[in-house]
Amino acid sequence: MKNAVGINKRELAAAAIGIWISAEANPARAAFGTNCLLRTSPLNQAMGILKRAYPDFIEDANEHVLVWRDRTQLKVQLFAPDRAQSEKIRNPDLAAQALQFYPIGNCEIPTDPDADPGRIRYAPFFAKMYGTDHAAVAANIVRVPWPSIARAPFVQVTKINGVAGRLTQVANELAAFPKPFHKYFDNPAGGFNARPIAGTQRPSAHAFGIAVDINTAQSDYWRDELNGAPGEPATWRHKAFPKNRIPFEIVEVFERQGFIWGGKWYHYDTMHFEYRPELLL
Ligand SMILES: [Zn+2]
Repeated sequence: MKNAVGINKRELAAAAIGIWISAEANPARAAFGTNCLLRTSPLNQAMGILKRAYPDFIEDANEHVLVWRDRTQLKVQLFAPDRAQSEKIRNPDLAAQALQFYPIGNCEIPTDPDADPGRIRYAPFFAKMYGTDHAAVAANIVRVPWPSIARAPFVQVTKINGVAGRLTQVANELAAFPKPFHKYFDNPAGGFNARPIAGTQRPSAHAFGIAVDINTAQSDYWRDELNGAPGEPATWRHKAFPKNRIPFEIVEVFERQGFIWGGKWYHYDTMHFEYRPELLL
């Protein structure tokens, strides 16, 4: 049930406990339009959220250190916090990763080039859980049946952290959607894929088996505006500001299961969903 500004009950409850704050209190929210809420937390709290999001792996986490359940550690250093977002994406650290905030609600594709919540991925963090190389990740990849009539009706993701189980829940909910919605997730472009992010050397979320791309024919990707130019230009600007085509009803199904959506990024990728529960807690 939505109220006048499109904020649902869950969002209002979250706002009431003070984690999520509104536009008036948080100018960063303006980047995402007026229909969504944006959380901000200090580093210590953000690390605590990381611990809650990955209980199978994280024993403890604070602003100084992350302790894995096998007793190995990752040091948390806030390296040059004022770096541009594009630089944090290119050279990520764990603190910068923890200090990105994903908006909830039916947002607009943001107009602020720094609004890419989730694109900072510190690879050692993900490699520790999902596997340090292709073979290690592949050992935990399973097929999730998918409501698609066009291609092979499944997508491949990791079973670690319950990702496959959660995606199964997503698939079941999508299968029950009215017919006009099905063209968006029919013929999915895929899940596990050991590729780097296009135009970069960095492992993609697909390489860890935590991401799914739905139908490319119904989606928009910022790199398509580059006309095949290589690299990932730091100063890229939208030429033609895209109008998202993916219905928010579909986005909500994924978000409820811990998957963020690339349609909330300035560097938009509206086919892309990625298991990042820490950004939705
Ligand atoms: Zn993707």
